[in-house]
Amino acid sequence: MKVFKFGGASVKDAAGVRNLARVVKEQGPKSAVIVSAMGKTTNALEELVWAWLADDKPSIQAKNAQIRAYHEGIMADLTGDFAPVHQTIALLESMTQQPATGSRDEVYDQIVSLGEVLSTQVVAAHLQSAGVPTQWLDARQLIRTDVTFREGRVDWTETKKRVCEAIDKQQVSIIQGFIGQSTDGRTTTLGREGSDYSAAIVAYCLNADSVTIWKDVPGVLNADPKWFDDTVLLQRITYQDAIELAYYGATVIHPKTIKPLQNKNIPLYVRSFIDSDAPGTMIGDTGQHLTTPSFIFKINQLMISLHPTDFSFIAEDNLSRIFGRFAQAGVKINLMQNTAISFTVVVDNDPTRVTPLLDMLRQDFRVSYNDGLELVTIRYYDQSTIDRVLVGKRLLLEQKSRYTVQLVVRGV
Ligand code: ASP
Ligand code: MG
Repeated sequence: MKVFKFGGASVKDAAGVRNLARVVKEQGPKSAVIVSAMGKTTNALEELVWAWLADDKPSIQAKNAQIRAYHEGIMADLTGDFAPVHQTIALLESMTQQPATGSRDEVYDQIVSLGEVLSTQVVAAHLQSAGVPTQWLDARQLIRTDVTFREGRVDWTETKKRVCEAIDKQQVSIIQGFIGQSTDGRTTTLGREGSDYSAAIVAYCLNADSVTIWKDVPGVLNADPKWFDDTVLLQRITYQDAIELAYYGATVIHPKTIKPLQNKNIPLYVRSFIDSDAPGTMIGDTGQHLTTPSFIFKINQLMISLHPTDFSFIAEDNLSRIFGRFAQAGVKINLMQNTAISFTVVVDNDPTRVTPLLDMLRQDFRVSYNDGLELVTIRYYDQSTIDRVLVGKRLLLEQKSRYTVQLVVRGV
């Protein structure tokens, strides 16, 4: 059994949905297909959540109208019985007319999860009308998680049982990426861009032959063409290198995707849905680490330095308190470094999470920070690649390990 994943960009319009149908017919008429929300629907749903929580009625109405018009526009150009899609749109509109209840993160998951419900309902209806034997499955009945809203942790045993029972191997199964449900029946999500991870979960449970992520790029490149010229396609990557690249922020694959596949030795292909004959990238047990340096570039970074106010050193007791605060605020550390009397971290500058974190840290530490920075990670670096990255930049911090260097820089 093959598992396919189509991201939001691949189903952003009717042509994308038709292309998905073509690829599925050609590559795997008996496959499990994981689909993300169409285009930028998840962002629109996030805005709807913020409007709902703020009880901003005009904005709620405007967002609902935008989401409805977008999906109706796509359906108008496709064939199929779209009654389930209309029901989901009506559900979204009626939910957001009632007052929001539950924690902010729970409210978020109840609404934002519907983007994938909509996209899969459109895709399944279109495949059926195109004569492909298709079953629409509800990931909320398959993927069991705990109640960590917005970052649900998977219960593998229960999920495996449910996935194996639900999949009919004679058909194409259409399943939402990104979403799951807790044991007590509340919808959860697996973290932004989590549909890749959903594909890995389903593949792990099914002992699939392979997973293919269909993207609008030819495969995994050694750098993001948005920031670097002369990128090269990486044809084969070990699981270990892929984990490291994704962990440091190569956005082409969600970091949680690789480990479950590695544990079962399931190869992961990243291929172009535009050029579906091209081989793309294979991630697996290739036995040979990368020979080309890879670059990962993150902008809008914040470097925070903490100094104890009570003359203590940065030691285990301080560190455990610091890490506790970061976990509580949901801020992920991209890089860290300590000296005897200071501790420095670099994080994504997301004010909704960072502002409360800084307030907490100020209770125990003197806090200083630098914003507007860039973080460049180079895997398999050498001095000439470092020099190339530093042209026109001021280096604030450098951290080297055997295979990886991280550079915190400011544009000058
Ligand atoms: N639709 C979700 C997001 O945009 C999940 C995904 O695309 O992987 O974050
Ligand atoms: Mg998406």
